[in-house]
Amino acid sequence: METEAWVRRLIREDNLHEFYTSPVWRRTQAQVLKDNHWECRRCKEKGLVSRARTVHHIKYLKKYPALALDRDNLEPVCDKCHYDEHHRKKPGFMNEERW
Ligand SMILES: [Zn+2]
Ligand SMILES: [Zn+2]
Repeated sequence: METEAWVRRLIREDNLHEFYTSPVWRRTQAQVLKDNHWECRRCKEKGLVSRARTVHHIKYLKKYPALALDRDNLEPVCDKCHYDEHHRKKPGFMNEERW
């Protein structure tokens, strides 16, 4: 099945878990991580080195299912950066060092 149609169906069924556990996603994710030497891209931009554990959809999967496996839409991130992206995003606040 075509990826986009498949992802759209999963979004409709509220079952993106199936996408994130699929062999094709695991393969894509592993490749992106490997190509980036397992380094978190966000930390790297700040001059830090953190181990990336996951791959984030820059344009969110739910809004852009056509980009589900588009390498240009994927970035390796560590757990902290990924958490921040999804839970604590405050525009204009991102570059401030608080800790
Ligand atoms: Zn990071
Ligand atoms: Zn994400």
